[in-house]
Amino acid sequence: MAWLGLDDTDSLDGGCTTEMFVRLLERMGVEYDDPRLVRLWPFAENRTRGNAAVAANLKISFDEAVNLVEEHWIWLCERSEPDSNPGMVLTEEQLDESIYWNAVRMHVESTDIDTPIRHHLWSTGGTGVIGATAAIAWRGIQDHTWENTVYRSAENIGSPRRIDENSIAEMDKKFPGTFLNRDPRKQKGLIAPRSPCPVLLGIRGETEDDVRSAFEWLRNNGDMEEVAGNMVWRTNQACDDHIGSVITATVETTPVVRTNGHASASTSEGDIVAFSEGGDVNKLLQGLIPGDVISWLGLEHLGVYHLERLRLVKAALRFKQRPMCHCGKRMKSAGKGQSPRCPTCGTQSEVDWIGEHIEPSEWMEPAPDRRRHLAAPLERKIPKDDIDLKSHI
Ligand SMILES: [Zn+2]
Repeated sequence: MAWLGLDDTDSLDGGCTTEMFVRLLERMGVEYDDPRLVRLWPFAENRTRGNAAVAANLKISFDEAVNLVEEHWIWLCERSEPDSNPGMVLTEEQLDESIYWNAVRMHVESTDIDTPIRHHLWSTGGTGVIGATAAIAWRGIQDHTWENTVYRSAENIGSPRRIDENSIAEMDKKFPGTFLNRDPRKQKGLIAPRSPCPVLLGIRGETEDDVRSAFEWLRNNGDMEEVAGNMVWRTNQACDDHIGSVITATVETTPVVRTNGHASASTSEGDIVAFSEGGDVNKLLQGLIPGDVISWLGLEHLGVYHLERLRLVKAALRFKQRPMCHCGKRMKSAGKGQSPRCPTCGTQSEVDWIGEHIEPSEWMEPAPDRRRHLAAPLERKIPKDDIDLKSHI
């Protein structure tokens, strides 16, 4: 038995590591199992587009696999994008799962594999090996999803994709086990990428059967260009593996909103930021005031949490001021621990402050086309509340 992982054969200009891997498996003519598509740490330097790596379990011996892969390494390098750094890893057994968790949660420096497991590396010296080992190491036992990736014929690559938008909408209704098929707000399909890569579409879903049947239906029921093949991957997409647990905090500063719409604030648990692409998350952050209690899920990078989901748990009073006295004057503070008092007639107030109460919010998330591949949509997973939530309310 052997595990083969591949990363970094594409670039922003084109190519696709998943397509390269499918072609490689075809050329090698081996039987394989558990093909997986794994997304990694979104802030990684030199990351490829979408930061995806792939692997599969080959049904041949390690020694046979070494020779077979070796025969195709030059072909693979020649076919990779000019500014990519292909990395391929072959191991006799599956690597330790901690390798995956490091690569999805933090910056990984070393391209060496520190393991007693027999392995062989092919690399052009870049970071591709990191993704390739992480894809082999991934288990996805707690959570995983599926993607059916469909590839374009060579002659179509670069031209506009031909898929019927109406049938995507219909497929979305017919196959509730699939998700992120379209953006309901913009009435627009999300399954086709917009880059000049060889992928025609990717259907994501909860089970292998969901993504297989949805594509079969789409192919038989809508106008679609000729396809060159497909692969059903098990994946870590939409599982939230990249972020830790929910953090609950009190807002300490009035949010700063830049001209480009990026918003940031300081809280009792650290600084937070939501870029304008964050949509509803950004809007909610912009409207916060000091004293608001919020919960978030986000990626900490260089000391700042980049918010991916946000909820207003308990709102501070808006337009907070002292109440009016019946004589027409506004009450004033009468010192610590005392009720406010009217400076003119001396009447004591029954309430300390008046203002506008607002309700807590639901969880907010960016629009579907602005989310990370790793991010779990709210329709799939509602964040589990912070265990310390009660101490804030
Ligand atoms: Zn008064």
